[in-house]
Amino acid sequence: MKKAADKPARFGRCRQFVCACCRRTLPFCLNCPCGFQICEECFKENQWGLSNGPTWVCPDCGRIRMTV
Ligand SMILES: [Zn+2]
Ligand SMILES: [Zn+2]
Repeated sequence: MKKAADKPARFGRCRQFVCACCRRTLPFCLNCPCGFQICEECFKENQWGLSNGPTWVCPDCGRIRMTV
């Protein structure tokens, strides 16, 4: 089953993320409900400490998140 993800967002028209590591503003990054955000580049650099296959662990709250 495919999920329709191309609907326009109703809130936060220009939603942007700020990577917690490099402080860059990005249109997309890995994020956690607690507010932690990390870009893919920094995530790859820290993958050894964060990720275990298809999941990663938020360093802020310890929540287990999916990479996709
Ligand atoms: Zn970054
Ligand atoms: Zn978190």
